[in-house]
Amino acid sequence: MVFKVEDLWVKVQGHDKYILKGVDLSIGKGEVHVLMGPNGSGKSTLLKTIIGMPQYKIARGTILFMGKEINNLQPYERAKMGIGIAFQSPPRIRVKTEYLIKLITTKFRTRLLPYEEYGISHLVSRDLYNGFSGGEMKRTEMYLTILQRPKLALLDEPDSGVDVDSLALIAKGIEQLMEEGASILLVTHLGYILKYLDVVTELHVMINGKIVYSGEPEKALDLILTHGYSYFVKGGD
Ligand code: ADP
Ligand code: MG
Repeated sequence: MVFKVEDLWVKVQGHDKYILKGVDLSIGKGEVHVLMGPNGSGKSTLLKTIIGMPQYKIARGTILFMGKEINNLQPYERAKMGIGIAFQSPPRIRVKTEYLIKLITTKFRTRLLPYEEYGISHLVSRDLYNGFSGGEMKRTEMYLTILQRPKLALLDEPDSGVDVDSLALIAKGIEQLMEEGASILLVTHLGYILKYLDVVTELHVMINGKIVYSGEPEKALDLILTHGYSYFVKGGD
């Protein structure tokens, strides 16, 4: 088992309410797990807790990665161990994209990937995400994640707000991660990206801070698109 979350309860610093309420999830080597759920159900919170963002406080439960509990590790330690994230809404920063790319290849001792394959050649000389379109941002975020050669890639809605051309490039990026043996946790809003992916291990549905359904991806997506998430709230059949 590459990655396992057991009975995870999480609050945001300064707030009383639990956002995650007992999440359980296991991901094996090279597996692709898809996470779907209504807005505000806690998907991004789960990913941000996994990478150790300090506002997200674990009240109960454990996060295991490569057989080690990582609950109290700093984000950079988790990144060094091989956890990479493509954020849903990454911050704009005043750093040249190309500078960050060089920094990642140096720190992670990885090879540069061709910019043109990700459609980012025209972007690398610009400040990261400043004035980028939705597709440009998602493609760049995907590129930066793959560049780290993560063992576990957390992809938070890489397919949201992108056109079909970008979608195909992002799907190629996911395939590249898979070829390199990464385990993947992919959050998707409407599931379009699943049409491009051959092998998905399992699809999970999160509602109100809990995974309420895990199953065969095609069947689960069909249930979601046909009945909506209320199907899972009521418990399904
Ligand atoms: P999802 O990604 O499933 O749409 P999120 O994990 O972003 O949902 O959010 C889950 C809930 O937690 C929402 O009600 C959101 O407002 C709240 N939340 C997440 N992060 C924070 C934060 N930093 N401060 C306050 N509330 C937060
Ligand atoms: Mg989210």
